[in-house]
Amino acid sequence: MDRKKSIDKNRNQGSIGITAKEKRTLEHRKSLYEKYVGGKVHWGNFLSAISLLGLTELGIFEIVKTTREGPAIECLNCNKAFSIANIDELPAMNYITCPNCEYKFVIFFDMN
Ligand SMILES: [Zn+2]
Repeated sequence: MDRKKSIDKNRNQGSIGITAKEKRTLEHRKSLYEKYVGGKVHWGNFLSAISLLGLTELGIFEIVKTTREGPAIECLNCNKAFSIANIDELPAMNYITCPNCEYKFVIFFDMN
């Protein structure tokens, strides 16, 4: 029973096996990303942000730059503006679905 518990625990953590070299590379890129956004980010936020950046790079998602002061985001597809709740608590990069037409895109909060 204890054994099963520890397996479940590992599964919940969802850790990914990486080598020490890969870890150093990721840590280096994370520090570059932190410089770019101007603050410490959690690993989860960093990994989701770089995967979103990669997908926008591949043209899978379009990216919209905005500021946290901007109260509304304009959809790239239907041009309808909508607000995002708890804007201050969101990570720098976010995957957004338009509530009007369900178009999916990425917003990036420009820190400058
Ligand atoms: Zn839309």
